[in-house]
Amino acid sequence: MRDFSGNHEALSINTATVRKQAPLDQIIEACARRDIGMISPWRDQVHAVGLARIAAQLRDTGITLSGYCRGGFFPAIDKAGLAAALDDNRRAVEEAATLGSPCLVLVVGALPGAREGRPAHKDIELARAQVFDGIAATLDHAREARMPLAIEPLHPMLAADRACVNTMEQALDICDALDPGRSGMLGIAADVYHIWWDPKLAAQVARAGRERLLALHVCDWLLPTRHLVNDRGMMGDGIIELRKIRGWMEEAGYAGAAEVEIFSDDWWRRPLGEVLDMCIERYRSVV
Ligand code: ZN
Repeated sequence: MRDFSGNHEALSINTATVRKQAPLDQIIEACARRDIGMISPWRDQVHAVGLARIAAQLRDTGITLSGYCRGGFFPAIDKAGLAAALDDNRRAVEEAATLGSPCLVLVVGALPGAREGRPAHKDIELARAQVFDGIAATLDHAREARMPLAIEPLHPMLAADRACVNTMEQALDICDALDPGRSGMLGIAADVYHIWWDPKLAAQVARAGRERLLALHVCDWLLPTRHLVNDRGMMGDGIIELRKIRGWMEEAGYAGAAEVEIFSDDWWRRPLGEVLDMCIERYRSVV
């Protein structure tokens, strides 16, 4: 297992972690000043500054991506909605390629309208079927663009409104069905926040193997958790056995970034530099 204590070469900052503090160009500058070599930006942050400008800034600073967030949200109530989702995913693939990302992260979606508090129906099996078809269609385009798709299973508390793929096993079943040859073009973004509790986690990480393990997202699970989305903890402040999970990943062949992804009203209130410095410190000491 890699020793992270001596430097932060494998640290990546998912830029949602500091999305309330500054626009993406300033976040990249702040990362460059701290020798943080990787980021994983969100599409809205890139669009706010401009895709070409961000691509140029990444070239200038030498900062690379550990992922691009995100595609997905495939389910819809009608054909037009399904087609619009596929179009949007095609654009996400192109943007990820422009930025030189190693993968496009997919938060697959769930009951249409649920995120706005108005689910159009309750049929999660239908949503799952639409997700499967949406990934299949997007994979064709992703193969042409040589852009791997990383399905991110989300904790079941988000099954209604954000992702109806909720375990590594379920995500790997999709991968095996759509990419039986393990081409490296379809795999998993393993976010400890969503999967730490899973009794099958160790076995599924081993099953995934090097070709399917495309990203590792780290943060911590706080007690008590006060909000289903925006109360993630800094690594070391909660109950997730980060080293154990990273150990399983590396045993299976994962050698990529540890990407810090913290959605937190607490951390969004602190200064940008302070948050980045704490990410570096905890990456070295507890990840
Ligand atoms: Zn994540």
